[in-house]
Amino acid sequence: MAGAAPEAEDVVICGSGPAGLTAALYAARANLRPVVYEGMEPGGQLTTTTDVENYPGFPDGIMGPELMEKMKAQVQRFGARLEMDEVEKVDCSEWPYRYTTSMGTEGLAKTLIIATGASARYLGLDNELRLRGYGVSACATCDGFFFRDQDVVVIGGGDSAAEESTFLTRFASKVHLLVRRDQLRASKIMAKRVVDNDKIEIHWNTEMTDVLGEKEVEGVATANNQTKEAGRIDVTGVFLAIGHTPNSKPFVDWLDHDEAGYLKTAADSTATNVPGLFACGDVQDKVYRQAVTAAGSGCMAALEAERWLEAREDH
Ligand code: NAP
Repeated sequence: MAGAAPEAEDVVICGSGPAGLTAALYAARANLRPVVYEGMEPGGQLTTTTDVENYPGFPDGIMGPELMEKMKAQVQRFGARLEMDEVEKVDCSEWPYRYTTSMGTEGLAKTLIIATGASARYLGLDNELRLRGYGVSACATCDGFFFRDQDVVVIGGGDSAAEESTFLTRFASKVHLLVRRDQLRASKIMAKRVVDNDKIEIHWNTEMTDVLGEKEVEGVATANNQTKEAGRIDVTGVFLAIGHTPNSKPFVDWLDHDEAGYLKTAADSTATNVPGLFACGDVQDKVYRQAVTAAGSGCMAALEAERWLEAREDH
């Protein structure tokens, strides 16, 4: 005999970074009893950084994990329900929408806020992952400030690598840019800024093969993929800029997205092409990617979900 159909939740939030938790805060304070599926990386990308000095309200800075703990405590105070689970699949063929989690829970959602973020890509070297937060970073805007008068390395050849290398020259004494081909993928104007900058040394056809250092980064091992020559560069910072992957897989069969998988939303809105489904934070933003912009768009998503529910007489 089939079990009783689950009662539909007013607001289901996928993701627990700044976007998801801000959406939860607003939805909880609007008495919508949101359920938050925290996802594989509870707290999101900020839990992998150390000091956060550009989130307003913390004049002395705050550690990324602590900031996320505070956001979590704040949403729990207003009754949001947090589940250590992940939405794996949605079915939007009928409203309320059906979802399945990786632990096998099936539920119904009247509105769904997708705040699953994006994951910075890493090369996957053991020491690179071990020293994440101890000199290895994927965000120059967040961490560049800590490398004043030090030498750093940036990996990548796209617009992010160009932008981050240029940005890092404000602090670092020297920026080594490791490019795996003999040309940059970056747009002409951004590439020119890199080439013209005396503080940036470009290492063509060069790959990072290891990150050196016990407790903190002390250097990187490199290899020229043409000559096979191995090398070492002494640096205290390593910045990965080889792209991000939006965590949009469970939703792309239903929602409009670009070729990289970023979800598309209406102008000045978090509304997707499916009524009642909203996307906020880095899963739909490949331009700003900041905690504060993610939080802002999480707020928008909750307000839009609330209004959408109000406008439906049968909710
Ligand atoms: P991207 O354009 O995909 O470039 C990634 C870069 O990383 C490429 O140069 C690629 O090399 C390199 N790469 C990838 N895997 C690698 C590996 N395993 N080892 C070494 N190098 C590797 O990513 P993005 O730069 O993050 O940009 C993403 C999008 O955002 C783009 O559309 C970009 O234009 C946009 N964006 C715009 C701005 C701006 O306008 N201000 C700033 C940042 C980003 P290959 O070239 O050899 O493939």
